[in-house]
Amino acid sequence: MTASSKAEELKAEGKVYFMRIILLGPPGAGKGTQAKILAQKLNLPHISTGDLLRQNVKQGSELGKQAKNFMEKGALVPDDLVTQMLIQRINQPDIEGGFILDGYPRNINQAETLDQVLDKKKASIGLVFYLDTSESVIIQRLSGRLVCSSCGANFHKINMPPKTDMVCDICAGKLYQRSDDNYLTIKKRLDVYLKESHPLIEYYKKKKKLLTVSADEEAGIVLDRMIRLIDKHNDTLKV
Ligand code: AMP
Repeated sequence: MTASSKAEELKAEGKVYFMRIILLGPPGAGKGTQAKILAQKLNLPHISTGDLLRQNVKQGSELGKQAKNFMEKGALVPDDLVTQMLIQRINQPDIEGGFILDGYPRNINQAETLDQVLDKKKASIGLVFYLDTSESVIIQRLSGRLVCSSCGANFHKINMPPKTDMVCDICAGKLYQRSDDNYLTIKKRLDVYLKESHPLIEYYKKKKKLLTVSADEEAGIVLDRMIRLIDKHNDTLKV
């Protein structure tokens, strides 16, 4: 039985699939896409710090105003701002059964903070997937990415074009290109990733939580690889 069919069975029995998963990898690795599908399949909430920040920017909140400049430059938003926002989300009741976390942690300081926050709840991270992706694929994916302004679904100008130009297939919302998905900002984000976020791979490897998945291929293939690995490590599942 695969992890997703097990999740469906447990859901039918009124039980929850108890798992905390982090997706790591450079921008364009497919973290958001995979996190959305995985969250649906495993019936777990998806937390994306990038999405939460963009919502704040859109709403013009105080946090959004402070974060906007950093995001447009492709820099990291200061830890205290992002961490405060994440803790608020993690403390909500729907998170009790676990989560799929994408975009956090982005550096060692954030990883240590997350461990401490979970520790206080007598909880811990179950699995960390590192989506290993080559630079040419990253640039190709990000420069063609389209996002739905309404439901957040991802499309691609060439790899996965919407049926109607700039209209979401799922909810008919308007598609847009993220302002940080331009060549110069992509390069900057990759530099930031290598300097700040790549050391997280070693951090989670040492904790024996890391699973590496080749992620240059299309989303369905990468997802299958992840589901197979979840099945193999299902001793981390607690129902
Ligand atoms: P993403 O949607 O994950 O690509 O994030 C978009 C932008 O949001 C990043 O380039 C950062 O500016 C900011 N961001 C998202 N998550 C974090 C985080 N954990 N720490 C700092 N900045 C973040």
